[in-house]
Amino acid sequence: MYQVTVKIGIIKYNNMKQILFLTQSHKNTMIAHSEKTVPYEACGLLGGQPGHVTSVYPGRNAQKSPVRYILDPIDQLNAMKTIELRGEEFIGIFHSHPRGKAIPSTTDIAEAYYPKVIHIIIARNTRTKWSMRGYSIVKGKVEEISLQISDL
Ligand SMILES: [Zn+2]
Repeated sequence: MYQVTVKIGIIKYNNMKQILFLTQSHKNTMIAHSEKTVPYEACGLLGGQPGHVTSVYPGRNAQKSPVRYILDPIDQLNAMKTIELRGEEFIGIFHSHPRGKAIPSTTDIAEAYYPKVIHIIIARNTRTKWSMRGYSIVKGKVEEISLQISDL
């Protein structure tokens, strides 16, 4: 038996580890967007309910940079509107590291302005292989979150 409690909108697993559930299709959408945006970082938002992704909203990187991103403000606005229309919550941000590891950069930590959302980082390990990890970043404190693929 696992004890499940809810804290800051994220499920805590056995009081040890937080979990975010998403589907293979959500993961594929983020990887496809990251692939398409190489050599720049890709970014976008995640809509859903606490602990569960229900939609992925890819956006443009207004910075067009291989080492940082700023989500295009129009894309951000449109995603936020759709999230509201669908009755979802804004639960996460994803971005890619086309030539880095799936760990938050110092910029990612410094610029994590939304403490309640989960940050997913998709890193390109080889030319075609990507890996994905999730984090909560609150006031400079980084905690890894377990990403679980669930197609139920
Ligand atoms: Zn980053």
